[in-house]
Amino acid sequence: MTSSLTEYENRDAFIGRHIGPNRSEQKELLSAIHASSLDELSQNIVPADIQLNTPLTLENATPETEALAYLNAIAEQNIVGKSYIGMGYYDTEVPGVIQRNVLENPGWYTAYTPYQPEIAQGRLEALMNFQQMVLDLTAMEIANASLLDEATAAAEAMAMAKRCVRKNKSNLFFVDDNTHPQTIDVLRTRAEYFDIELVVGELTELSKHDVFAALIQYPGSNGRILNPEPFIDALHEHNALAIVATDLMALCMLKPPGEMKADIVFGSSQRFGIPMGFGGPHAAFFATRESYKRAIPGRIIGVSKDSAGKPAYRMALQTREQHIRREKATSNICTSQVLLANMAGFYAVYHGPKGLTKIAKRIHRLAGILAEGLEAKGVYVVNSHFFDTITINSLHNAEVIQERARAQNVNFRINGSHIGISINETTTRFDIEELFDILLGEHDLNTESIDEYVTEQSTTFIPENLERSTAFMTHPVFNSHHSETGMLRYLKKLENRDLALNHSMIALGSCTMKLNATAQMLPVTWEKFSRIHPFSPKSQTRGYRNLIDELQTMLKTITGFEAISLQPNSGAQGEYAGLLAIRKYQQAMGDTQRDICLIPQSAHGTNPASAQMMGLQVVVVKTNAQGNIDIEDLATKAEAAGERLSCMMITYPSTYGVYERGIKEVCALIHEHGGQVYMDGANLNAQVGLTRPADIGADVAHMNLHKTFAIPHGGGGPGMGPIGCAAHLQAYLPGHSITEIKGGNRAMGAVSAAAFGSASILAISWMYIRLLGANGLKEASQVAILNANYVAQKLAPCFPILYTDENGRVAHECIIDLRPLKAATGITEVDIAKRLMDYGFHAPTMSFPVPGTFMIEPTESESKEELDRFVEAMTSIYHEVKNVQNGIWSLEDNPLVNAPHSQADLIKDWPHSYNREQAVYPLPWVAENKFWPFVNRIDDAWGDRNLFCSCPETSSYEE
Ligand SMILES: *Cc1c(COP(=O)(O)O)cnc(C)c1O
Repeated sequence: MTSSLTEYENRDAFIGRHIGPNRSEQKELLSAIHASSLDELSQNIVPADIQLNTPLTLENATPETEALAYLNAIAEQNIVGKSYIGMGYYDTEVPGVIQRNVLENPGWYTAYTPYQPEIAQGRLEALMNFQQMVLDLTAMEIANASLLDEATAAAEAMAMAKRCVRKNKSNLFFVDDNTHPQTIDVLRTRAEYFDIELVVGELTELSKHDVFAALIQYPGSNGRILNPEPFIDALHEHNALAIVATDLMALCMLKPPGEMKADIVFGSSQRFGIPMGFGGPHAAFFATRESYKRAIPGRIIGVSKDSAGKPAYRMALQTREQHIRREKATSNICTSQVLLANMAGFYAVYHGPKGLTKIAKRIHRLAGILAEGLEAKGVYVVNSHFFDTITINSLHNAEVIQERARAQNVNFRINGSHIGISINETTTRFDIEELFDILLGEHDLNTESIDEYVTEQSTTFIPENLERSTAFMTHPVFNSHHSETGMLRYLKKLENRDLALNHSMIALGSCTMKLNATAQMLPVTWEKFSRIHPFSPKSQTRGYRNLIDELQTMLKTITGFEAISLQPNSGAQGEYAGLLAIRKYQQAMGDTQRDICLIPQSAHGTNPASAQMMGLQVVVVKTNAQGNIDIEDLATKAEAAGERLSCMMITYPSTYGVYERGIKEVCALIHEHGGQVYMDGANLNAQVGLTRPADIGADVAHMNLHKTFAIPHGGGGPGMGPIGCAAHLQAYLPGHSITEIKGGNRAMGAVSAAAFGSASILAISWMYIRLLGANGLKEASQVAILNANYVAQKLAPCFPILYTDENGRVAHECIIDLRPLKAATGITEVDIAKRLMDYGFHAPTMSFPVPGTFMIEPTESESKEELDRFVEAMTSIYHEVKNVQNGIWSLEDNPLVNAPHSQADLIKDWPHSYNREQAVYPLPWVAENKFWPFVNRIDDAWGDRNLFCSCPETSSYEE
């Protein structure tokens, strides 16, 4: 009996499905690297003085069905009310074809950021659609491929305006007080350390101030439509920039800000088919004028050409970004919201301009019926002009109305006696009738007769001079795929062009591309998680609050910290929030002069970029030949900083892939000099269950939930970058002006639009931790280390491992040095990266943190078989390089410099000194599961010189 039950339990254990190598394979891997057991290996590698000697106090591993049932019970505590709150979040209908084939499809959600564009043409085209949709609806000249949320997009706009405005030396930034309050919140936080003074006021007051830029929300947060044009003109007269926050759905009917000469336009694309999800994830959009293209934050997709002259997409102008420009970058944004931008773009493709206009007009018409009916009954509607939102003043019966609304789980925006009502895509005529009942009590209104009346009077609630008169989305892509069959096939066509984790391992160092298990993903699209407005009343969000509490407790246990903030939407935002807490704390201690941040040479580009955003001066600390921090240099620089030392940012294990021995010493040294330690937790996958950031000595750290905790990368986002901190920093964690945060400090500024960031994807990490339990999490870290050491050892005969510890071991990733080969043969790291595509693999992280190298992180999820395949591919490539060195192939014509090879190559003449089979089936198993790059090698520089960031005309594809 017992044995069969144990057998049953074992069969049900998730851990065996998450961890690639099974027990007997683990033995083989261990023996290959001369280790006796996982414990012996990790004890040997993790420095003794930081090893965690007790198991994490977490719940036991739970089988998938049980964990899902438990989580479902939590979800059931949420109440899906009818949300008329608006404020940038609207209920929407996610087209089923997009939900099933994109949001719920690993072909889309497990892809990486498109740094290897030849195997990412599908999502690059989708992002281009997103950019084109934004350009058309806003009538601007250049758009990026998404930012984290509307409020941070506002902060980026403010910072960009400051960089771009030349003739105006003012430090004053004006914000229309009819802007969403969470946007104002985030702007306040950001302005403080940029030395920008914020003035929030009525737009009519704008002329009283000498500002460098102003933000106008159009339509206003309360629904009002005021013509921004006179204000934009006035700003330009004073050499100031005009920033407009707007709504894409409204722009289907309104004159776009680009036609009013706005300089920057941004907003959220959430209502284009992205679930509200209690705050996210959603893609913000951001557009500006062509002349500011080098100042834009975030990634931009552009068109270039491949080596055969065929148009091809890739990320443009990357030199603006933090991985190249570091503290001079245009922003710290790394992970953004690719999956959600893709979905919003597909929503536009599916509905087309006609469909979108129909949806917008319907929303507007229902809002009109509502306003007209209420006014007929003597209700005072504050804004006579609106698109979808009206605000009424209910001086006498606000209480009664609220009571009736509560009884029906109908949510309004309540602001004293003002009640805001936003109509959305899902609203029906019956909903309007229900609204009349709630707002008026007994009444004799009839929606149909009001509708007739409105139509007959041809009443419009949009000022005549602000009606949209120009066409949008005329490109064929928005006018072709309106049937479900058509859409399904378009999505599949693009999916086929992209390599994701459902094809082969993606061993991207520092990015931890592990399994994103289906059971972890299922809850994301449960209605009780997805259809919750972030500002819903507490009584409707008990489930979310419990999920958040539980996840915070788990993360506290795993990191050893006292408190967790789930607000930051990416690792980089976590860095920003953590540094903010440090600065606020130091100010409270009277240490306002502390403004120097020490950062090792090897740091990720987001570190210096975030430090700069916090007004910190970056001082670089050297690393020694072993890749460790040069402690002497650190001591000298900490000493030199003296009273000005604010903090150090450090990644552990280091980005060089080793557990530095002196890490405790480093932390102690910073503390002795009165500084704080910020730990970049991107490499937490090598710590969980083995050591803890707090025990090592960190004061605050971020966790990339989209790396260690199984949230998929989505092709470049979403992510989540919560921070954990020690007790003394807790009071300085981000606050939120609308949502109450348990144990939080309301007075602290917000760093994101929503209090808990992208709350709906927290369920993924919750599931991950529950499915693995304490033992499983520890084993995952150990096998991650095992796999990395195995790959390092197997590759070492061909490619030198750049850094190891004194026992020759690496942590959970390793750097292989390609520079000697390049020096000897002329074959570059780029050639090798592109050649890997012919073998069906995505290249590892290239040239970070050391130029001319690959950083390889296999993760625990890859089996021995897959590791061996990767090693075999790399070894085969090594021999190809040798063939070039030995003169068998010339440097001008060989399978490396011509990589990747496409199907189109095969049907042309074959002028090469190697044959077709060597080109596309270099190893027998490649043919078994061939991935065909859709284009040949893309010319990045050509694309930047001939910048083109909108959808190309279809004719440009014809030869
Ligand atoms: C991924 C990464 C970051 C940035 O995280 P995002 O979530 O992309 O913003 C920072 N530091 C290191 C070492 C990383 O690997």
